[in-house]
Amino acid sequence: MSKQLSLSTTIRILVIVSIVYIFTLELFNFDNIKKSLQSVERKNIEYLIKENANTLASLAYFHFDNELQDILHSIQSSNKSIISIRYIPKPITPLHNEMIFPLKYKNTTIGYLDIEYTYSLSQEFIEKYLPYFFIYLISLFFLAIFTTHYLSKKIDALKALSQKLEHIDIKKFDKLSPTETYKEIIIITQAINKLLREIKLTFKRLLESEKHLKEAQKIANMSSWEYNNETKNFYCSTQLYRILGINLKKSRITWQNFLEFIDPDDREKFLSLLQEQHNNQKQFEIVLKFHTQNIERYLKNVVKIRKKKNHIIYIGIAIDVTEEIKAKQQVEFLAYHDPLTSLPNRASFKEIVYNFAKIAKRNNQKFALIFLDLDNFKLINDSYGHDIGDRLLIDTANALKQSLRESDLIFRIGGDEFVILIPDIKNKDSLLPVIQKILHTVAKEYTYDNYTFTVTCSLGVALFPDDSDDIETLIRYADLAMYEAKREGKNQYRFFEFTMKQLLEHYRHTIHYLRCALEQENELVLYFQPKIDIVAKKVVGAEALIRWLHPQKGLLTPNHFVPVAEKSELIVKLDYYVLKKSIQYLARWKTHPILQHLSLSLNISAKTFNNPDLVSIIRHNLQKYDIDPKKLEIEITETLSMENVLHTIHIVQQLKNLGLKVALDDFGTGYSSLNYLKQLPFDTLKIDRSFIKDIDNDPDSLQITKIIIDIAKNFQKNLVAEGIENKNQEKILLDLGNRCAQGYLYSKPIDLDSFIEFVKTHNTTESLHKD
Ligand code: C2E
Ligand code: MG
Ligand code: MG
Repeated sequence: MSKQLSLSTTIRILVIVSIVYIFTLELFNFDNIKKSLQSVERKNIEYLIKENANTLASLAYFHFDNELQDILHSIQSSNKSIISIRYIPKPITPLHNEMIFPLKYKNTTIGYLDIEYTYSLSQEFIEKYLPYFFIYLISLFFLAIFTTHYLSKKIDALKALSQKLEHIDIKKFDKLSPTETYKEIIIITQAINKLLREIKLTFKRLLESEKHLKEAQKIANMSSWEYNNETKNFYCSTQLYRILGINLKKSRITWQNFLEFIDPDDREKFLSLLQEQHNNQKQFEIVLKFHTQNIERYLKNVVKIRKKKNHIIYIGIAIDVTEEIKAKQQVEFLAYHDPLTSLPNRASFKEIVYNFAKIAKRNNQKFALIFLDLDNFKLINDSYGHDIGDRLLIDTANALKQSLRESDLIFRIGGDEFVILIPDIKNKDSLLPVIQKILHTVAKEYTYDNYTFTVTCSLGVALFPDDSDDIETLIRYADLAMYEAKREGKNQYRFFEFTMKQLLEHYRHTIHYLRCALEQENELVLYFQPKIDIVAKKVVGAEALIRWLHPQKGLLTPNHFVPVAEKSELIVKLDYYVLKKSIQYLARWKTHPILQHLSLSLNISAKTFNNPDLVSIIRHNLQKYDIDPKKLEIEITETLSMENVLHTIHIVQQLKNLGLKVALDDFGTGYSSLNYLKQLPFDTLKIDRSFIKDIDNDPDSLQITKIIIDIAKNFQKNLVAEGIENKNQEKILLDLGNRCAQGYLYSKPIDLDSFIEFVKTHNTTESLHKD
């Protein structure tokens, strides 16, 4: 590339060339003038000679030599240019500055004039004008030099300005100072400054909006990309590099890379969508999963296809929706998984089992559902705390996962209930090794913090489709089989059997008829078991115990229907029924001569205890029948009260606030800690029958009973011993300091009339008077 001349150099060259040109031109002109003058001078001589030629020829012809010389002399003196003039008879070759002029007389050349001349006139002109000419040229020269210098300086100032402009950093730019004090430079500098200020402002705004755009893109986790199908050029924004964790300085993303980052399944979908949309050029949206070295992101791509001449261009906006997708997946996971063990939960259990059933039916396959329930889990939870309970569940889940095959599915469907689905089994026998493995995996010694205990589990197994091809039924059967395993002593398995189904039928019937009985009001009656003060040998109260006068089966005790009712909400209805009846009895006893001093206790189950209406229903009935609350005692089993101690304390306190008495029933079976016992505001502890039963022959039972009596005394609780059947037991209890008792020794639970009779015979008139 040829180097271009700068403006100032060009001007300098032009000026020099002009000077040389003018100089040459002027010299040429000067020479021309000189030549013209010489020509005029010569012509002047010729004219002079011609004028005198005839005279001179005549004088020469007639040899008047003196006259001739005189005239020649006068001619010479009349013209300064003529140096000499002489007459010659014959011609000679003229020298420079010499003229030979013929003289003719009557057309005959008679001689010649030899004239030597000089250009005196032009010489004179040159001598006179040459200094001026030189002065003119020199002034011209200096003028040119001065102009060049002046112009160059301005141009150099402009050049300096342009250099300054060239290296200007618009971000740091403040103001350009003029390089020279020339007016034009100042004006130009000011104009440039104005322009630069505008540019700077626009630049600043541009930077800001670019920054905002980048920030907005960053906030929205948005990026863009473009691919030209023809040129194969791929461009993507820096934000995409950031999202995918790729160092822009180290590598550039190509279209090939971009596709490779996409999860294979998504990539296939994406490419076929691009292909499909080639022709209709519609916009489409697709969420793609991207994997780079150590990053996994989900990008929602809004893609537009544009045709430009023969080029097909894909333009995409990619929004990072990873958090959204992950949150969704988490929600989905939580909806279908148990957060504690991460096992699929009850919701996914049913869905999966239904799908399995479909596949198994189609392929003529069998599968097994194994219900697993940890034995005494509630006890562990209550004794060692929920934290340890949770850790045990996690460990059980992990142990199951490790011991079973990958194709076996494990679910946690409730507290300590797990279900294992064993697909594609041949028969019951082929299942036995798996069942044994499960029992062994779970049954072991566990140590948490400072506690060590052994855990076992009970399993119930039902086969599809052998036991049932209806999933709901199959689930019920497996559950039923598991309950049978529990009932028969725990730490074992049971396959579902038809007899269990009968049991289930029995449950259903019981619930149905119990519901009817509750509505009829005459089938369910209260029996009363007297509470005896064994020192005074008097009846101090009674426990109301429900009986069912079954039209077909006769009189049924609670163990035939209360456990069944407890499995449904029907128990709440039943308890409220007993509560209402008990209060109605107390209302009647108020004026009864024998019964008016007696208190009445009744039992309530867990579901009723947790029913939010319990306190208000009792209050309402007490007020309605105007009952002294002290006459009513509520019995709550120890196991129930330990389920949620804080809740128990809260409710018991509310009941006590009504003025009622509250008793802890079956005490000694529920493993309550002494610490809790101290906090629970019960009035009475009822020692469980199981201790009393062996009190006269089992030293352990005796010891436990002694401890319970001590505890009651220490915590200032009333005591009632349940299930006294003989005098021996009564005597021991009396010796231990227990005063109140219930048991067959005195009376079984009896109907109202019998009860009245019983009280009549025991509470003599005297003792009544004493009271
Ligand atoms: P519980 O509250 O511990 O009642 C005492 C049970 O022990 C009664 O059985 C009573 O008949 C029995 N019993 C009392 N003394 C002796 C004895 O000396 N020897 C023997 N072998 N048994 C004795 P019952 O009436 O069959 O009640 C059983 C359980 O059913 C009750 O145990 C109570 O938990 C529950 N129950 C009874 N009525 C109701 C009710 O109205 N509502 C609720 N939720 N549960 C009730
Ligand atoms: Mg009771
Ligand atoms: Mg009891």
